[in-house]
Amino acid sequence: MSFKDILGQENSINQLRSHIKEERLEGGYLFTGPDGVGKKFTALTIAKAINCQEQDSEPCEICPACKKINSGQHPDIHLIDADTPVDSELKEGSADTGGSEALKIGHVRQLQKEISLRPYEAKRKVFIIDNAHNLTPAASNALLKILEEPPKMSLIILVTDKPARLFKTIVSRCKIIKFPALNRKELEEVLRKDYGLDSSYAHFLAYFCEGRIGKALALKDTDILREKNAAIDDLALSTEIKAGSVDLKDREAVRGYLNVLATWFRDICLLKTGMPAEEAINSDRGRELAVWADKLTFAQLNSVMDAVSDSILYLERNINTKLLLLNLGAHLWKA
Ligand SMILES: [Zn+2]
Repeated sequence: MSFKDILGQENSINQLRSHIKEERLEGGYLFTGPDGVGKKFTALTIAKAINCQEQDSEPCEICPACKKINSGQHPDIHLIDADTPVDSELKEGSADTGGSEALKIGHVRQLQKEISLRPYEAKRKVFIIDNAHNLTPAASNALLKILEEPPKMSLIILVTDKPARLFKTIVSRCKIIKFPALNRKELEEVLRKDYGLDSSYAHFLAYFCEGRIGKALALKDTDILREKNAAIDDLALSTEIKAGSVDLKDREAVRGYLNVLATWFRDICLLKTGMPAEEAINSDRGRELAVWADKLTFAQLNSVMDAVSDSILYLERNINTKLLLLNLGAHLWKA
């Protein structure tokens, strides 16, 4: 997999490739954009492009350096996920001073230690910090010190879908590269042509995933289309709460279920405002959507959409899922 496999990010990639070609890479980069659009993948491809032993500014995919990076075995390329604790710090954390702060700063301590050493075999060391918005204040301060004077033989790439949660001082030290989601129609085409999905499935995934190709690909081999239609049958089209298609103990499944309901009522609302039927996420249920658009008033729709989004918020707060859905059902049938 190489730069050409990263779809819809031509601007960002051309910018990065020209930085590599002209040997004017910055010490720190910040890759921002929604989840599942290719940020981490691009960061790893940059690491290969810089260190490839066969080609300049483009990974060959077959030299030892490219292969080691692909298998996560390269000693100079570090992929750190700020969502997971560092092994050595886990042991420290189990001592009396332990705690999440100690765990998070572990990532940056590891980086501080490594970054001052010369590369073992790479032209340039690369540190990719995924979910960088989850670094704690102490870890962020330590990172800031590194970014103020990054060693020449190193490159730091921060990856996040929530840049507003990073320290402003960190953001200002990095070259920002934005990764937008694909246009939904484009993603629908890609899923149909390149991945062989049928039209209605490609349409649903492209719109449901809001153009995020990584999310669409992660869902493409699941049963999501049948599950989403079962969810719609259960709640939106019945006159009593059944929720038979969802495992109430599985909070992720309940969240998915609520997200489907949100798309259902969003479609109805937008149809009422004149959106063409083929733009609906659930265009495979177009006839039923039209019937519901006639039946519900805007006031009713606003009220049910509020109830669904409140339920999604309550779900975060560990509320009993059965009660949550019963409560939502009662609200829906009142509307
Ligand atoms: Zn190579």
